[in-house]
Amino acid sequence: MDRDQVVFFDTTLRDGEQSPGCSMTTQEKLTMAHALEDLGVDVIEAGFAMASEGDFAAIATITQAVRKPRICSLARSKAEDIEMAARALEHADRARIHVFLAASDLHLEYKLKMTREQALDQCAESVRLARTLSDDVEFSPEDATRAEREYLIQMVQVAVEAGATTINMPDTVGYTTPGEYERMFRQVRERIPAIDANGVVLSSHCHDDLGLAAANSLAAIQGGARQVECTINGIGERAGNASLEEIAAALYVRADHYGVTNNIKLNQLYPTSQILGQIITFQPSPNKAIVGANAFAHESGIHQHGMLANPLCYEIMTPSLVGAAKTNLVLGKHSGRAALRHRYAELGYELTRDELQHTYYRFVALADRKKNVYDQDLLGLLPDEIRLSRRHLPATMLES
Ligand code: MN
Repeated sequence: MDRDQVVFFDTTLRDGEQSPGCSMTTQEKLTMAHALEDLGVDVIEAGFAMASEGDFAAIATITQAVRKPRICSLARSKAEDIEMAARALEHADRARIHVFLAASDLHLEYKLKMTREQALDQCAESVRLARTLSDDVEFSPEDATRAEREYLIQMVQVAVEAGATTINMPDTVGYTTPGEYERMFRQVRERIPAIDANGVVLSSHCHDDLGLAAANSLAAIQGGARQVECTINGIGERAGNASLEEIAAALYVRADHYGVTNNIKLNQLYPTSQILGQIITFQPSPNKAIVGANAFAHESGIHQHGMLANPLCYEIMTPSLVGAAKTNLVLGKHSGRAALRHRYAELGYELTRDELQHTYYRFVALADRKKNVYDQDLLGLLPDEIRLSRRHLPATMLES
C-alpha cells in the first residue's frame, strides 16, 4: 500500500448501530453497505458476529452483495467469537477479523478481572488463532489512551509478533487530546520496529465525548496512522464516533497540511448521510459540519453580502463538492438588502432602490416576529401594484 494513503474503515454498521436509535435490520444494513461502497470506503465493519443472529446474518449477507470494500467482523478475544466471525465472513472476497482486548488497568481489573500477564497471553493466542482463519487481522487494545503506556507498547508488540496486520489504538471513551494522541502513535511506531518492517498499519478509533474525535483522528494521521475508523454522521456509542465526513473533508480542504490521499468520493458524502438519516431515527444536527442542514446556510447580512459577491468569502468548500444541493441564504432578521434583492430577483421581481428600501423595512419588522421568512411571506410584503403588474412567474408558483 502507498505510504501516503489513508484507509477509511467505516464502523457505522457496528459501533454506530449499537447506539440508541440506530439499530438497523439486515435489509437496512445492506442498503447502507451499498452506499458505503459507492462512497469509496475501504473497509466496512459490518457487525459483531457473536453478538446476535441478526448481526451474523447481516455480515454474511453483506459479504455476498458488496464486493469492493473489505468486510470485517468484530470479535472479543475469545476462540468462539473469532471462529464465529470467520464463519460469518466465509463468502467474502476479502475479509478481516477484528479482535479486541482491554489494555487499561481499569478495564482489565473491573470488567475482565484479569491480570496484565493473562491479557498478554490471551492477546497472543487470539491473534494467532485469527491468523489461521484470515490473512487480515486487526487487533485493538481497548481503552488504549488510558492504558499505562509501557504496557500498551508490550501488548501491541505481542499482537504484532502474533501476526496482526493492523493495530488500532482506540480512544474508547473520547478522553485523549490531539497532541497526546499524535505522540502516542509516534512513540508506539518508534518503539516497535516490527510495525514498519512488517508493513503493519496503525489505526485510530476516536469517540467524540469532548468533541475532539475528528481532530484526534487527524492528529493520529500526523503521528503515522494510515487507517481511520469512523462513521457516517458520526453516530456511535454516547457522543458518537469520529465523523467520516469531517475527516474526509479536512483531508481534502487542507491537503496542503496533511498531504495524504484516500479513496473517498467526496460528492457522495451528503447523499450517504441522507440515506443513513432516513434509515435511523435522527438526522445529523443542523449545525453538523459538512452534512448538517445549516452547513452551507448563511443568514447574517454581512455574510450574505459577501457570499453574493464571492462565495469564497465565507465558504471553504462548495456544497456541490460534498454532494449537497446548494448554498442557502436564509432570510431572517440578520439579513441585509443584498440578500433580499437577490431573493426577490429569484422570485421574478427586479426592485428599484426605493422599492427595495421600502420593502426592506417591512421585511425586518416581519423577521423580528418570525424565525423563518418564506418566499410566500416575501410576496406578501410587496405592494399590490408591484406584485400584480410585474409578476412573470407561473401563477402556480405564487400559490404554492
Ligand atoms: Mn468505539
